[in-house]
Amino acid sequence: MIREFQHISLRGRNSFGVEQWAARLVEFENTDDLRTIFAAGLPERWMVLSGGNNVLFTCDYEGLLLTPVSQRIELLADDGETVRIHADAGAEWDDLVEWAVCRGLWGLENLSLIPGKAGAAPVQNIGAYGCEAADAIERVHFFRVATLTEETLDAGQCGFGYRESVFKHALKGQVVITGIDLCLHRTPRPRLGYGDVEREAAARGGVTLRNIREAVCAIRRAKLPDPAVTGNAGSFFKNPVVEAAVAERLLREYPDMPHYPAPGGRVKLAAGWLIDRAGLKGHRAGRVGVHDRQALVLVNLGGASGAEVIALARNVQERVRERFGVEIDTEVNIL
Ligand SMILES: Cc1cc2nc3c(=O)[nH]c(=O)nc-3n(C[C@H](O)[C@H](O)[C@H](O)COP(=O)(O)OP(=O)(O)OC[C@H]3O[C@@H](n4cnc5c(N)ncnc54)[C@H](O)[C@@H]3O)c2cc1C
Repeated sequence: MIREFQHISLRGRNSFGVEQWAARLVEFENTDDLRTIFAAGLPERWMVLSGGNNVLFTCDYEGLLLTPVSQRIELLADDGETVRIHADAGAEWDDLVEWAVCRGLWGLENLSLIPGKAGAAPVQNIGAYGCEAADAIERVHFFRVATLTEETLDAGQCGFGYRESVFKHALKGQVVITGIDLCLHRTPRPRLGYGDVEREAAARGGVTLRNIREAVCAIRRAKLPDPAVTGNAGSFFKNPVVEAAVAERLLREYPDMPHYPAPGGRVKLAAGWLIDRAGLKGHRAGRVGVHDRQALVLVNLGGASGAEVIALARNVQERVRERFGVEIDTEVNIL
């Protein structure tokens, strides 16, 4: 079923809580709805606004926004060890994680409490605590607007990488993701190598699926601002991946700099550390600021516009460039 709104405020539909307006917003459930919407003619400008947790509106949107609302999660197959499930694009990601944990299915627990909907998960290949959505996604279902057809891509064709996929590049603006299939497991597969997950799980009585989920939720609640209280979009910047020679130069000057091996002999640096060392953690500029517990997160301190957030982001990028000679790119979709 389609629900259509004209000239609608986006304030409650973006986690930064900025006040911008959209000319038209349509909530849809399934492919038939999408066919009805696009068969009437391709709008000049359109995009999917799912949960709005990874977008920053800097002006009103003079086009059509599409929001998936179907939240169906279903079992596809179960051979006693491997379990295949499907989630519609409108299912809340964390409801999906809880659904799996309740049934003793391993694979999503480290991705607990990431805000947003299931259909957005493959777009930037959401990740946290050493895991990515790509570890569990088997297939992505989508609607191609040019041909009004339903199509699927297997995970291997999705171009998944660090916060990357084909949906951010070749298929951007071409398709609407309608659902994802995932492959989960009954045999325990704890992934504890990242942050305090192991310690927090042990503090809850040991390494069980439920304890890992609760450990991740507790760590996230302690570190990240709740968008319902303080507007933000999680990490505003991606961790930069640099040539080995750049990392070596920086390590000579900053031996304590966190660094991790990346594909192709390159080195991944921690953007939060760079921002912190550039003296910007907790920095405030009017109604916006750099979060005081997690320097990767920019926050709306109340009533800020998208333009104010962007001005702060540019300042942060410039200060990191000046201090370390490293570029940090934005993770958030800026509109
Ligand atoms: C407090 C906080 C913490 C966060 N922590 C993490 C984290 O740990 N790891 C992480 O990876 N991310 C994190 N994020 C970012 C965010 O949660 C993810 O990017 C999430 O997937 C966004 O989902 P959404 O439904 O809100 O998508 P939106 O913000 O609405 O959309 C994001 C992008 O995906 C596109 N898109 C969304 N749905 C579809 C679809 N069905 N078809 C086609 N395109 C689509 C949109 O057009 C847009 O370009 C965090 C955000 C917040 C606010």
